[in-house]
Amino acid sequence: MSGSDSGLDDGLDDGLDAGLGELIGRLPKVELHLHLEGSIPPELALRLARRHGRGLPGMADGAAGLREHYRFASFTEFVRMYLAISACLVDAEDFCEIAVALGRELAAQRVVYAEVTFTPMTHVARGVDAAVMLAGLAEGRARAREQYGVELAWVFDIVRSLGDQAAPTLELALRGREQGVIGLGFSGPEAAGWPIAPFGPVFARGRAEGLRSLPHAGEMAGPRSIWDALTVLGADRIGHGVRAVDEPALLEHLALHQVPLEVCPTSNLGIGLYPDLAAHPLPRLLAAGLAVSLASDDPPMFATSLVQEYRRCAAAYGWDAAQLRALAAAGVRHSFMSEPRKVELLAEQDRVAAELGWV
Ligand SMILES: [Zn+2]
Repeated sequence: MSGSDSGLDDGLDDGLDAGLGELIGRLPKVELHLHLEGSIPPELALRLARRHGRGLPGMADGAAGLREHYRFASFTEFVRMYLAISACLVDAEDFCEIAVALGRELAAQRVVYAEVTFTPMTHVARGVDAAVMLAGLAEGRARAREQYGVELAWVFDIVRSLGDQAAPTLELALRGREQGVIGLGFSGPEAAGWPIAPFGPVFARGRAEGLRSLPHAGEMAGPRSIWDALTVLGADRIGHGVRAVDEPALLEHLALHQVPLEVCPTSNLGIGLYPDLAAHPLPRLLAAGLAVSLASDDPPMFATSLVQEYRRCAAAYGWDAAQLRALAAAGVRHSFMSEPRKVELLAEQDRVAAELGWV
């Protein structure tokens, strides 16, 4: 399904109760599934492409043309655009700038903390100096905190179809721990041709060093992929995981152990997993007692934001203030912020809700 006919442009005209909308906007929130390279808005992508003489689909027509091409028609097209934008990141300043831009966008949504996925080896493999890249990220993270009060933590992602990059990604993640790297991600094709087993030792080493295991699973493939992420990679959380609904035993396991899922409904619709929110399994995951938080994945590429995810789901599923607050609190609890910071943020959510009359 293409973005243009999936109703992704609903904006704020979604019929949501104004009071609930205000609650969503003002609650201090946490975002746990968001890709740095997938968060670059068209205007910034255009500036980066021009700066380095790179081409992007549609850029001849400026940011508007580029925006049209952000509306891909398939997962393959999505990946092509994602990589084309990634190729415009060259200097430390570029990496810094995209992190600062993300901080600004998150602050506008009252997102105060985000665990952000970044795929270092796609850049290093293009010839970017790892030290330059890490310095740019560190500077951008510091500025996002200073200028916008947003705390960014990094998840360094391993792409399963690029197996020889797993160990170097781990090395970079360990190098970056002082600059906010908290875990290893895992993405790419969930398919039989790309087995997960060879990645087990790298994740085991990372976990032994204190990194979290934060793989994508159960998005493109079914329950087996989630079981593998749990058993082979020792997953602390599952990115997406929505296909867990296909197996009652897995649902039971995830509920029993409260393994958090980072659910990104608009992204799932955008790549055609489900035709609309009515068909999306999120209500069934919640009903089964799973630990779920909402996330936005690659916001400008799916014409969404964390606020939009809350709004669209609230409108589609008839959520009340209690449900919205429970999801916002889940984002905090499932994060890897310090425990005192979690307590503080949960109290701040209670305070804001009370101030708005939702007690
Ligand atoms: Zn993702």
